[in-house]
Amino acid sequence: MAKLYFYYASMNAGKSTNLLQADFNYRERGMQTLLFTAMIDTRYKQGVVRSRIGLEAPAIPFAEQTSLWNIIKERHEKTPLHCILIDEAQFLKKRQVFELARVCDELNIPVLCYGLRTDFQAELFEGSQYLLAIADMLTEIKSVCFCGAKATMNLRVDENKQPIRHGQQTEIGGNERYIALCRRHFIEKLNSL
Ligand SMILES: [Zn+2]
Repeated sequence: MAKLYFYYASMNAGKSTNLLQADFNYRERGMQTLLFTAMIDTRYKQGVVRSRIGLEAPAIPFAEQTSLWNIIKERHEKTPLHCILIDEAQFLKKRQVFELARVCDELNIPVLCYGLRTDFQAELFEGSQYLLAIADMLTEIKSVCFCGAKATMNLRVDENKQPIRHGQQTEIGGNERYIALCRRHFIEKLNSL
């Protein structure tokens, strides 16, 4: 049976690079894939998964109201799909995570989701919450804090690299507005305000 995978990480850990490598591996074997990315991410032009090391691939942008099930089912009926890859999966709604579970269970297509676990206030994103709840496989993509410990948290900073404690969950300002830190240093930075 196909599985629902959630690869989670802090900012700048290489999630999109991992996604594009997995996509390449499927395509290299002559398999068909379908990529999605969040419409909310306006750092780059819509409809592209782009990694910081320069790789990119076209993707279908998804918004809150997008039915992933309908899009995937329709494509799959025309040309059988072998893998679905979702970038910025933290922005999925609960309903969409359950749609992806149906894609695994009813269409037997593996779904690989890549996203942040928590926001800058250490709260789960909706997509991440339900992926952590119902995915078959949970894998952490590791990155490193300045101290050498594993970075698991995302500190939001202003133009002067000062920590920001309050604000909207989603504020797309580019990677430079976030610093991936270990939990100890994340808490220290927030307490220093
Ligand atoms: Zn640290």
